[in-house]
Amino acid sequence: MTLTPAQRTIGEGIDRLVSIEITGRGVIGDLYQAARALQDAPLCLTAAARLLEKVHKGQVVILATGLPMYPWFAGEQDGPVGTATLARALLLAVDAGLYVRPLDDALSLPTTAAVLPFPLEWEEAAVRAQALLDTLRPSALVAIERTGANEHRQYHSSSGKRLTDYCGKIDTLFASAGEREILTIGVGDGGNEIGCAAIRDSVLQAVPHAARCACPCGGTTIPEVPTDLLIAAAISNWGAYGVEAGMALLLERPGILHGRDIDARVHDLCAAAGANNDGPGLLDVGADAVAAPLHGHIVDLLGRMVESGIDFGRLYREPRYPWF
Ligand SMILES: [Zn+2]
Repeated sequence: MTLTPAQRTIGEGIDRLVSIEITGRGVIGDLYQAARALQDAPLCLTAAARLLEKVHKGQVVILATGLPMYPWFAGEQDGPVGTATLARALLLAVDAGLYVRPLDDALSLPTTAAVLPFPLEWEEAAVRAQALLDTLRPSALVAIERTGANEHRQYHSSSGKRLTDYCGKIDTLFASAGEREILTIGVGDGGNEIGCAAIRDSVLQAVPHAARCACPCGGTTIPEVPTDLLIAAAISNWGAYGVEAGMALLLERPGILHGRDIDARVHDLCAAAGANNDGPGLLDVGADAVAAPLHGHIVDLLGRMVESGIDFGRLYREPRYPWF
């Protein structure tokens, strides 16, 4: 991947913005540094570039999300929101749109997406993974705020509570994708998400409860299945937003990044569907205990940075001002 100076500068800025310490958990600084030490270029922009290389019109991308919140085992708004907005961005990037339809329709109709559950049982999940990979032949798999199985095949919340019975065994899909050389990306914010295997030692050091869970398995909270790339963000949705911004920057199409109106609407719908806003466990609109309008501010700032990156790139190519 060859980046222009303007792209690299804005790419670093995107990473800084989406990894700012806003939740007060005190772990994202260390997790980001560990993820960044694995590569020489900004995380979100790298993921964006790899997706644009791999994904072409008519091809399938599988996005995985869903982290049940203890003790309700209900969903949360961190994950689904970024999944929806990244799906939109990917479809725009390959000149498509986004209708949600049943899988068969989605495979035959243009500009569609399908929402699929995944089996809770391991054996059924393994069969389903092979079938999906055989039929869909995806170009890429992205996990956003998606927990995975630890060394004892147990799933955990960031505080170490067991979630195994409520999680589709999506690890089977990621493991098989790796064998088939399909691009895999994990987006996480707490060390218990798919993708964090790459920074296992740093998670063990930085995240309380990561080394020993609070369930009888006595293992770590870190999923074992590896991914090609990891994005560590303050809130996982923001990692997805950063990838959208990266694609918008690389293609010089600001509209690929969703705007704050869409952001608010997706949060609203997610909360109305019963997804949690973390913290005190309320169904307030927002993610990781951060209210929805603040997520809109992040989207606004990312949008401004993308425009700056595009403008500066053009200024160097075609100087517009006599004093420049
Ligand atoms: Zn455990």
